[in-house]
Amino acid sequence: MKIGKSTIIVVIIVLLLIITGFLMSNAITKVWSSWVDYDPPINVKVHLKPDYNYPRIAEYVIIVLVDGARPDIIDKVGGEGFSLLKKEGVLFSNAYALPPTYSIPARAAISTGLPHEISGVTSNWYKKGVLNIPSIFSLAKIYGLKTGAIGDSSISMLFKDYLDTYIEIPETSGHMKKSTEEAVKIITSGELPNILWVGFADVDEVGHSHGALSSRYEEAIAEASKSIIKIIEALKLRRIDDRTVLVVLSDHGHLDQGGHGGDELEVRRIYLSIMGPSIKKNVTLNIDIYYTSIASTIAFILGLPPELISYSPPLSSAFSEEQLPSLAMYELGLALNYGYHLKDLFTRLELNSYVEKSDEYLAILEKIKASDTVDAGSITEYYVELSRLYEDSKKELISRDAGIRAFSAMLVGLIAWAPTVTLCYFTRKSLWKLLISGFIGFTAFWASFIYLFRYTPTMSSVNSLDSYIESIMASTLISIIVSSVVMVSVISIKDERKTLLSITPILLIISLSSIIILVMGVLYGFIVKFPFPDWSLAYLYYTSLLNEMFLALFNGLMPLLVFIGLTLKTKLVKSTRQYMKVSTVLNADI
Ligand SMILES: [Zn+2]
Repeated sequence: MKIGKSTIIVVIIVLLLIITGFLMSNAITKVWSSWVDYDPPINVKVHLKPDYNYPRIAEYVIIVLVDGARPDIIDKVGGEGFSLLKKEGVLFSNAYALPPTYSIPARAAISTGLPHEISGVTSNWYKKGVLNIPSIFSLAKIYGLKTGAIGDSSISMLFKDYLDTYIEIPETSGHMKKSTEEAVKIITSGELPNILWVGFADVDEVGHSHGALSSRYEEAIAEASKSIIKIIEALKLRRIDDRTVLVVLSDHGHLDQGGHGGDELEVRRIYLSIMGPSIKKNVTLNIDIYYTSIASTIAFILGLPPELISYSPPLSSAFSEEQLPSLAMYELGLALNYGYHLKDLFTRLELNSYVEKSDEYLAILEKIKASDTVDAGSITEYYVELSRLYEDSKKELISRDAGIRAFSAMLVGLIAWAPTVTLCYFTRKSLWKLLISGFIGFTAFWASFIYLFRYTPTMSSVNSLDSYIESIMASTLISIIVSSVVMVSVISIKDERKTLLSITPILLIISLSSIIILVMGVLYGFIVKFPFPDWSLAYLYYTSLLNEMFLALFNGLMPLLVFIGLTLKTKLVKSTRQYMKVSTVLNADI
């Protein structure tokens, strides 16, 4: 049997497609693991040891984390618990999470005061075990306090070495009810640890399955409100409510249709209220604050020394007047630790002008420390300046990489379009037909993609890589079918020679794409500093790379399908004609 030229070409194309697909998935895996297995640029170390005795404001702090609760829906639903918190405590109406707004990075940030790129907990796929950096749990343990957590497996994963008690509640329905029961039991038994973390999973689950605008979501928030009341009642029953600070918060919000992880306002805004001794009553504060302020605030309440590296100042405005002098001293300690930490970070990143600037602030702060006259307001000012310095340094790092990022994204984009464009160029006769069919294929891809996600995809619409790839594959398949049908029906290539002519450039392009992607995969570590320092940009890069790569792969497949379709059509026509001829001859013989 003689193997035809076209068969060899088809085999080569298929092989190249397989290789290209392999290289692409390899590059995607690399980008993915550089996010999930990310290593922070610096080890977190505390510079100053305590030289001041800090008063303990409360004996106990109970942190109730209502996972995925949106503050605007809490405001709408209210209920006894949330209304009481508002009336008896301080409500922060402009509190924010840091993107990516996932649950596990949030717990790390709330407990340590560190942003994700410094804590190293960057995704919900974090698997490096216990966090050995200063946290409210580790500090409590060092200074002889008791710690506990109920119903939050992520807290136990991150801090289990520093938890005296942990009560696991399976994340099935009724999680919140069981967590509350256990919390009430611990409070009334008289064995309440100094820090108790209580996690409620139900609101987040309903958010994912029904969206933030659903009645089920409101019901879950109403249920959380009731649970909070039960905890407060237990504290009153045990008569420790005047020695306990209750911090109720959420770790992220939810999109209207459900989902979180991105940097949309609905997912970044969190609920936060604080109630208890030395905390103002019936005050709503609309200053912008981040959940990285919570760890140091709790440490201050429990009289723990300022041995955290807090990227945001403590929530001074929540405290009553008489706490301000000791708060100022505390904040000074924190600011110094933060300043020295930043100086180390800038040195590590070779940001020399930033090292100088941090030195300037440190000199001022050391001077204030020596002078013994500490004014809370001015320390907060320097704290904010230091935080700004950090944000500016990230911007500087991003701008350094901007060119190469844009170039690599463009390159992948070009690869995606290359087969169609080349096909158009080499078969000049049907240029417009090819252009139209290519355009229809491209539009079909994005239309179905956007339809599947119901909006432009962001990190919030992708809660797992699997679902993301499934959606992108489905869109791509739809696009292939639509554009193949269009192409087969509009292009009429009459002989095999012409077919070969149109296929050869595709072959070249695919092999070129394979080489470029291979080079990109190899160079990846050098060209992209992912994900530090900017999450949204890094994620954008990741998703666009993923989109473009699948698009490139299937744009290569599309002309192949057209080729196979046309060959089959020609063969079918040929054999039909032959059959007709034979039967005519046969008929004539008879
Ligand atoms: Zn969450």
